[in-house]
Amino acid sequence: MFSAKKFIVVVTAPSGAGKTTVIGRLLGRNELYSYSVSATTRPARDNEIHGKHYFFLDRREFEAGVAGGEFAEWAEVHGNLYGTLKSQIDGILAGGRYVLMDVDTRGALSLRESYPDGVYIQLIPPSMEELRHRLCGRGTEDEQALCKRLHNAIGEIEKMDKFDYLVINDAIDLACDRIEGIIAAESLKVSRLGDTSRLIDTFLGRGSGQ
Ligand code: ADP
Ligand code: 5GP
Repeated sequence: MFSAKKFIVVVTAPSGAGKTTVIGRLLGRNELYSYSVSATTRPARDNEIHGKHYFFLDRREFEAGVAGGEFAEWAEVHGNLYGTLKSQIDGILAGGRYVLMDVDTRGALSLRESYPDGVYIQLIPPSMEELRHRLCGRGTEDEQALCKRLHNAIGEIEKMDKFDYLVINDAIDLACDRIEGIIAAESLKVSRLGDTSRLIDTFLGRGSGQ
């Protein structure tokens, strides 16, 4: 009876900090977590599947989606367009599940306006050296793209105070534990229960209170 409405959980992190890895691990831990698949004009990496990792669109398709009001937010990140589809968020929430999403800092700030009850988490690596190490190790970016991502990381980390929670991704399982803890605590907030007077009356077996 005292069960809170589900909400969006926005994880923002500099490229290479490990958000894809951490979110992937979280999805395997709890069947109430569901991933909001974004659209992007970035070309797919070798291991990426259309509809699972992203909806890969060309610019014309993406812009048609923007014009048609399909995006809850969108932004140009590292030279490509990325956007959150309203249909993804609405579908997952309607199914009674938490929406895990991975968007850049601007996307997170803009979502906060439409989803003020969302939870906004910044995930960071233990250090900038480790970030470079992880990005190089992933081997998906050429030198120029790598520099751009490392440079953009500085501006992203500087916006830390715009987030509700800071999670350091030192060890993957620990980072997942921290995010699970945040979601668990947030879902117990009395403010998420809606009309508490009605719930209390029902719980205490009282009439409708006329
Ligand atoms: P992002 O989605 O934030 O760009 P990824 O999840 O692709 O980052 O992770 C970047 C690289 O760092 C990957 O090779 C991944 O395996 C590695 N990685 C992620 N988390 C950790 C961690 N806690 N410790 C060590 N390596 C990590
Ligand atoms: P990548 O190319 O490494 O998958 O992602 C690059 C950046 O785009 C990351 O910072 C990621 O958070 C961001 N991103 C992914 N999806 C979205 C989205 O739907 N909206 C916004 N604004 N950023 C996104």
